[in-house]
Amino acid sequence: GIPTLTIKLVLLGESAVGKSSIVLRFISNDFTESREPTIGAAFLTKRITRDDKAIKFEIWDTAGQERFAPLAPMYYRNAQAALVVFDITNEQSFRKAQDWVEELHEKLGDNIIIALVGNKMDLLTMQGEISNRAVNEDEIQNLCQQENLLYFEVSAKTGKNIHEVFQAVGEKIPFP
Ligand code: GDP
Ligand code: MG
Repeated sequence: GIPTLTIKLVLLGESAVGKSSIVLRFISNDFTESREPTIGAAFLTKRITRDDKAIKFEIWDTAGQERFAPLAPMYYRNAQAALVVFDITNEQSFRKAQDWVEELHEKLGDNIIIALVGNKMDLLTMQGEISNRAVNEDEIQNLCQQENLLYFEVSAKTGKNIHEVFQAVGEKIPFP
């Protein structure tokens, strides 16, 4: 077969921001409105190609335990990549994402590739000049520059930009 690089990728972010939905969309091109954390499988894999090589993502999603207790560091140990997800209509979820970015850099150093992911862009609406976007775009940009993050606005519901996030993470991983 073609040369394959295996990458552990973890999903982090507040409960209900759409982590499991992003994984479901990426793996199965599917979506559900259900709020039950039943789609929170612990471990899934998916291959993408990059030039004449393959990248196999080993994707770790939570089973919803972040609702009740802090996630154990064991969950993200040895991760080479992380998607830190927030809901772009929910300011609190962005604060939580900032905390996650700091914790990852503190515990894993600068080698981990982190993509900050603003999900639920399908919910963005305008009332005249006023948008329901809950997080200032300059603030997002500043965080991304400071912490060296990729940034994508996505919708697991429509599928917008979901593949692009994983592809961009894959592009940043150096082949040995
Ligand atoms: P998790 O707790 O972070 O894994 O979040 P889930 O994937 O379980 O999603 C929580 C809720 O948000 C569910 O009701 C989903 O249907 C909904 N949801 C997830 N992604 C989107 C999205 O892109 N747009 C909209 N409108 N709803 C979403
Ligand atoms: Mg989940």
